[in-house]
Amino acid sequence: MDKNRKYFSTTPIYYVNDVPHIGHAYPTVAADVITRYFKQKGYDARLLTGTDEHGAKIAEAAKKHGKEPKEYTDEISEEFKKTWRELNIDYIRFIRTTDEDHIKVAQTFLQKLYDKGAIDPKPRLYKGLYCVGHEKFMSPEELVDGICPDHKIKPIEHSEKNYYLKLIDYQDWLKEVILSGELNIKPESKRNEILGKIKQGLEDISISRVSLEWGIPLPFDKTHTSYVWIEALINYYTYGSQNNFWPADLHLVGKDILWFHTVIWPIMLHAIGEELPKQIFAHGFFTINGQKMSKTIGNVISPADLVAKYGVDGTRYVLLAAFPFGDDGDFGWEILDRIYTADLSNGLGNLVSRIYKLFTNHTYDHQIQPAVGENSPWVESYKLLIEDLQFSIALDIIRKEIRDIDVEINKIKPWELQLEDQKFFLQRIIPRILLLAKLLQPFLPETAEKILKQFSGQIKSAPPLFPRLR
Ligand SMILES: [Zn+2]
Repeated sequence: MDKNRKYFSTTPIYYVNDVPHIGHAYPTVAADVITRYFKQKGYDARLLTGTDEHGAKIAEAAKKHGKEPKEYTDEISEEFKKTWRELNIDYIRFIRTTDEDHIKVAQTFLQKLYDKGAIDPKPRLYKGLYCVGHEKFMSPEELVDGICPDHKIKPIEHSEKNYYLKLIDYQDWLKEVILSGELNIKPESKRNEILGKIKQGLEDISISRVSLEWGIPLPFDKTHTSYVWIEALINYYTYGSQNNFWPADLHLVGKDILWFHTVIWPIMLHAIGEELPKQIFAHGFFTINGQKMSKTIGNVISPADLVAKYGVDGTRYVLLAAFPFGDDGDFGWEILDRIYTADLSNGLGNLVSRIYKLFTNHTYDHQIQPAVGENSPWVESYKLLIEDLQFSIALDIIRKEIRDIDVEINKIKPWELQLEDQKFFLQRIIPRILLLAKLLQPFLPETAEKILKQFSGQIKSAPPLFPRLR
């Protein structure tokens, strides 16, 4: 793949009963920020996102709503598209695993796995306890009194003949590519966790169902449908292979599905002779005011609620500023309010408005250089942190620069200066603000544009960028 290309993906969302919530928005905004960052750098950077729509859980949810699965998933995928529009997510494609091209690519992929001998040609008898909530077989150790502790349901006893992907054949190879860094798993703690599990030895995995109609038929045996996880992983390749855009540079995934992305997916690709994704990054989970987000508790936060309060850019910012990406953390209205007020209302917004007020005093032809200082060490550190997906730490650097400029303004008191001196002062300070706007553009695309317009004299008056919370 071309050096100037970057291909990023979020996991397709496995939608069941919920409306889009903050848990979906969080990694999607992160993926959008990194994509916009590389676009700004001149790359052809593309973001793939979408919905994962097959499997027993979706079929059941559709039935509960009195709908056919397709009709049901048509509606829910629209909900997600709408939400991403509201959050200004700039994706190249919203892929649905029910899209015709995906079904075709997935079948070709599965056929190749079969032809290469990665799938055992003889179905094996499988007996196990299947949790529909998890869409996977549970080991006895994972259950509490025979009940799935996460979904509070009793797994269903399944006994059927399934096709198996021969993971065992590839375990030495997999260990090797993780150790050598060819397959880059981040954060480090997660890499070690996965490596530890692989060292204990892999088991072959069942990849088909006979009893489930709502899935993609196996091309070599149409009486079986593909296990939802197996075909869903192929979505990244569906877009990439059709657009000469494979391998992916980054799969952004929740830590709960890291196993699928770092063990099963690389083995599938390697087995058919395809390149591996460059990096798999697991983001953490979060709580809402110390509690797990749940409808019963009534603490579910929707992206629309956030946008109503903080605006689009404000929402994008507070989500990523709250705690280090990759860690577990806690969200809550107070935390988000505090970040919004400190960083955006009082921080960037107030700075821009103070300087803009002085700027409008002057009618001279503004000879202001666009953003300066791009090669400063602090800017370099900022960029490295963004490329390493350490968003909140990168934003600390921006906070410090805003504070430094504020300190300078308070010291010089430009409003007390003669107009000519004030002009010199502005010519020095405005480029620094323009640099901030440029650096923050991936987080705050609309705000960055507004700031540029304000200081190029294109507008007569400017409302506050980030109004105070009421
Ligand atoms: Zn479960």
